[in-house]
Amino acid sequence: MNSNLQWSLETLAKVNDHFSVCGPEDVLGWALAAFAPEIALATGFGPSGVVLMHLVARLRPETTICYLDTGLLFPETYDLRGQLARRLGIRFTRLHSELSLEAQAAGHGPALWERNPDLCCHLRKVEPLRRFLATQRAWISGIRRDQGPTRARTEMVTWDVANGLVKVNPLAYWTRDQVWAYIRHHDLPTNVLHDEGYSSIGCIPCTRPVAPGEDERAGRWSGQAKTECGIHVQPDGRLVRTVG
Ligand code: SF4
Repeated sequence: MNSNLQWSLETLAKVNDHFSVCGPEDVLGWALAAFAPEIALATGFGPSGVVLMHLVARLRPETTICYLDTGLLFPETYDLRGQLARRLGIRFTRLHSELSLEAQAAGHGPALWERNPDLCCHLRKVEPLRRFLATQRAWISGIRRDQGPTRARTEMVTWDVANGLVKVNPLAYWTRDQVWAYIRHHDLPTNVLHDEGYSSIGCIPCTRPVAPGEDERAGRWSGQAKTECGIHVQPDGRLVRTVG
């Protein structure tokens, strides 16, 4: 397969069919060969991202690895960023809103995340990522089917309608247990907050620990209808453009 394919739904179906019996390393290797250097891994420093960073560091360490710095991340997340850079020999590209937190408060009122988290995520995550992705031909994400109902139809290779480029989800079919087994096997660093019950870690105001038995992402925007920040949501409201 090569990068000259037309990314119709039929093409996506063929590509996903081809990779249905392959592992994350295979689809990642294909994507890097097809799109580099205009391909980036986007991470929120969760366990899936740690696995992908390890794989990317082995396959093509100069690959752009970006993260969204909302200005509201936990100190422990920044600590992990440093540990990963040292351990894997990778560098991070910091994406951020053009609005400082002070400017956001001045324009939209204080603690926008409490009153309008969709707008806050749009300003601090969706728009900065959109600007960056306009410079790329493909991006890599760590989302998995088992992370909750909204992600249950995720395919390995999708077309990101909102941003107009290919999106690759190498861990789409992996489970949480597989991710953690990989991390233990390679002795990779993870966010120390996982040991305090935080399973999915985003911004400080919108993240809480989860209780045993709760969904992995139950601690995000807890008490609100919101379940996604928006970077994985397509214009039709679906999470990914699927081929089924
Ligand atoms: S997760 Fe919360 S604080 Fe972070 S950008 Fe979204 S609404 Fe704002």
